[in-house]
Amino acid sequence: MLNKKTVDDLQVKGKRVLLRCDFNVPLQDGVITDENRITAALPTIQKLVGDGAKVILCSHMGKPKGEPKPELSLAPVAKRLSELLGKDVVFAKDDTVVGENAKAAVAKMQDGDVVLLENTRYRKEETKNEENFSRELASLADIFVNDAFGSSHRAHCSTVGVTAFVQESAVGYLMEKEIAFLGNAVNNPERPFVAILGGSKVSDKINVIRNLLEKVDTLIIGGGMAYTFSAAEGGKIGTSLLEEDKIPYALDMMKQAKEKGVRFLTPVDTVIAKEFKNDTEYKTVPAGEIPDDWMGLDIGEKTRELFADAIKGAKTVVWNGPMGVFEFENFAGGTKAVAEAMAAIDATTIIGGGDSAAAVNQMGYGEKMSHISTGGGASLEFLEGKELPGVAAVDDK
Ligand code: AMP
Repeated sequence: MLNKKTVDDLQVKGKRVLLRCDFNVPLQDGVITDENRITAALPTIQKLVGDGAKVILCSHMGKPKGEPKPELSLAPVAKRLSELLGKDVVFAKDDTVVGENAKAAVAKMQDGDVVLLENTRYRKEETKNEENFSRELASLADIFVNDAFGSSHRAHCSTVGVTAFVQESAVGYLMEKEIAFLGNAVNNPERPFVAILGGSKVSDKINVIRNLLEKVDTLIIGGGMAYTFSAAEGGKIGTSLLEEDKIPYALDMMKQAKEKGVRFLTPVDTVIAKEFKNDTEYKTVPAGEIPDDWMGLDIGEKTRELFADAIKGAKTVVWNGPMGVFEFENFAGGTKAVAEAMAAIDATTIIGGGDSAAAVNQMGYGEKMSHISTGGGASLEFLEGKELPGVAAVDDK
């Protein structure tokens, strides 16, 4: 169980609480195109407001690289948050984040008021976890609460550094929920426990595979990374994604799975095309039999059935990474089949953020899952068995 202080352990009435959220949402022409991360932050904000705290929100957005970039301002988030909370959220527009404007906005706050600071990555110190900016952030508040699961794998000023200079720190409800779902799945799963990994690169998921092999009953590999496993077994993969230097690793993982009695499933057939685009000729061939100038862009029908069947018997399923190039409609079928199979079962179903979360929501299966993580990178590091710095830095209970 999580041994960290949570918002339920705090006395916040009249206190200034700096709440780190993950408002790193996609924007198109100033319009938020996916607000899941904002709605996921609401319970903690509402709790603090309800308890009479002065709630000072902060977050990063995108990669402004240490300087103000108007297109990465959090102003649109303040506007949307006001609507969702049904109360005014004052946006402390300030290119230095904790400048005169922010200080004045905080000084004016009444109990229950909400202020949102500007993008923390407008400051170059943020991603280097430099003390001066951590101290500036802390100077605005008495208490720090970290609810930014999606940023908790990074030791930055607003996730780690700041905790050293406040009176007290705790995690928020979203953080608690993410850790409860992912932690339980990995460390105390109801069995059979099936993990599904996809996406483009084996190299991104090496430590995840290694750690999960110790925990799961079945490990399923799909997506672009599966072709390196196919090549390792001597298959012909044409121009499909390949990380040649990871072949020894792939062989080792398959050997270890055998030794540990873990069922290791890779595609048995694959949808191939000559060009990397939606509108192109495509067909299905057996895995390992891809002609020279063709590339695999999705798992085939037989593989979809094989994977769905393995999912059907599971009591816990964790999924990270699409099964194919789901951004192209013609190659989204494998990803859809996995989402559908997970949606249909009576089990704990967890989507590990990033592209698979986007795919599941886009395909309309979001409501059917037990938990969709708000953090892609953070949930991967969690699945690797790593301690997240943004959680470790918070006060113990
Ligand atoms: P990642 O960023 O590693 O999680 O991978 C997600 C990306 O992998 C998505 O943009 C998919 O389009 C891509 N992907 C999945 N399968 C394939 C494939 N067979 N070939 C190329 N890209 C793929």
